[in-house]
Amino acid sequence: MTSTFPALLIRDEVLGSHRVSLTDMEPSELMDGEVEVAVRYSSLNYKDALGITGSGRVLRRSPLVGGIDAAGEVLSAAEDSGLKAGDPVLVTGCGLGEIHHGGFAGRIRVPADWVVPVPKGLDLRQSMILGTAGFTAALALQRLRANDQDPGMGPILVTGASGGVGSLAVSLLAAQGYEVVALSGKTRQHDWLKSLGAVKVMDRRGLSQGWRPLETARWAGAVDTVGGEILGWLTRTVDEWGNIVTIGLAGGAELRTTVMPFILRGVSLLGVSSSNYPTERRAAVWAHLATDWAIPHLDDIVTEEIGLEGLESASKRMLAGDVHGRILVDLQ
Ligand code: NDP
Repeated sequence: MTSTFPALLIRDEVLGSHRVSLTDMEPSELMDGEVEVAVRYSSLNYKDALGITGSGRVLRRSPLVGGIDAAGEVLSAAEDSGLKAGDPVLVTGCGLGEIHHGGFAGRIRVPADWVVPVPKGLDLRQSMILGTAGFTAALALQRLRANDQDPGMGPILVTGASGGVGSLAVSLLAAQGYEVVALSGKTRQHDWLKSLGAVKVMDRRGLSQGWRPLETARWAGAVDTVGGEILGWLTRTVDEWGNIVTIGLAGGAELRTTVMPFILRGVSLLGVSSSNYPTERRAAVWAHLATDWAIPHLDDIVTEEIGLEGLESASKRMLAGDVHGRILVDLQ
């Protein structure tokens, strides 16, 4: 019986060429950790697409198995880990696919504190339709709530709405009673975004490119996956005491604004960094995602299911803006 497993290995030499190969690995090639997992599902996130295509400095060692998400069954675990063979578990972020062999493989071996038992109410497949994107959308909701963003304050704008984080945020916030307006560059997906719960969809290409410190307030709050000009525009158009959760940089890493929104309107800019979210607080967030923050429409949000061999082309399409929703990676 062979114990090798398939893996997507990325070579990202600073001065060399970028290469991605589908390879067979031995368990002995895995990195240190107290828990070994037979991976059943992973998912494709923006960061993975940057790493696979070599478009961004995601990998901090090379060669490395990509994949910042993984879900599967425990094969073996240290006795004091609280886990046993057969337990359904997931890992998101924590350095997976960045400094540690990741989830685009039949197996992972990871430190025990990275591992979250899949909560009752979710199965392995659903946990990876959510993956880092769903966990991040949940953290955005948590930050909004903690900073008093009440649904009664008015509409929340979600940017990059057709993307993985964006579509899950639209569905989650709508289910939590917020009036969600979706901002998207994909005209073809407007009806789909409405089916996920957006009351209105706006085309991002029609936005004002003005540069006044404050513009007419239009949003009670925002969840932004785009950054750049759009985030700057949000600071100028969010109403008094509203919150903007900044998550991504699909449209740029810079932020051009002034202090005016913060000191004249009391606007707050809240960050989310899912990858290094404290491990001891992760299970509680996942428990919410399985119960009171359950995201409806998960089956409509997963738009593609691919194997390891489909990752390179899907990554290119993702960075070109040719995908929407979530791409599930099936390793079964
Ligand atoms: P996706 O590719 O699935 O979604 C990105 C979306 O952004 C696209 O669907 C598109 O939406 C929009 N977009 C793409 N390019 C541009 C552009 N040039 N200008 C304006 N909008 C654009 O990626 P993810 O959902 O996986 O990730 C989104 C962002 O969030 C990424 O930057 C990612 O790195 C970041 N991220 C951050 C996390 C954190 O913890 N802070 C965790 C997860 C992701 P549309 O066409 O509808 O406008």
